[in-house]
Amino acid sequence: MPKKTKIMEKLHVLDKTFAISIPEAEIQKQVKRVADEITRDMEGKNPLFLPVLNGAFIFAADLLRQIPIPCEVSFIKLASYQGTQSTGQIREVIGLQKDITGRHVVIVEDIIDSGMTMAHMIETLELQNPASISVCSLLVKPDALKVEIPIHYRAMDIPNDFIVGYGLDYDGYGRNTKDIYTLTN
Ligand code: 5GP
Ligand code: MG
Repeated sequence: MPKKTKIMEKLHVLDKTFAISIPEAEIQKQVKRVADEITRDMEGKNPLFLPVLNGAFIFAADLLRQIPIPCEVSFIKLASYQGTQSTGQIREVIGLQKDITGRHVVIVEDIIDSGMTMAHMIETLELQNPASISVCSLLVKPDALKVEIPIHYRAMDIPNDFIVGYGLDYDGYGRNTKDIYTLTN
């Protein structure tokens, strides 16, 4: 008999309560599926993965361990969110230390909500003439999308709710869980 790990149904982060919405096993299954798609598409292309800090750090770690082809990884940072409400503000892309000219770039994001952050990031990176830009997002909120952006790889679509866990935070807390949780109050 395999040992059963106990699933935590509720999560308290600061003043809020969250309920489990995507268990670890489902996340890992979808991460593997996306990793296989990327492996198939990027074989022989020497891709450069650009995970977006902080939210994508756990997703990127799991995803990249399932992609067995030669590739490089370089983390970038930018933020548009405070608390549970989008501020609509876009901050600059910082920390890009690789020359992406002529490279097949794969942006690795935690979640696409309005799509504004990703649209801005694609615009910024395009200025440096990469061979291609692909977008890989752990989560997409299709009902929240405000701009048209290409999303080549997506692990899971979710409703328009606020979630935490598996790298995603609420005011800096709640990133360190294996499952994903949805705000209930
Ligand atoms: P967008 O520009 O697409 O509206 O927002 C993207 C960013 O907002 C994400 O990279 C993420 O940091 C944050 N975000 C959007 N929705 C959520 C959510 O439900 N939970 C958390 N923790 N962050 C979110
Ligand atoms: Mg993000």
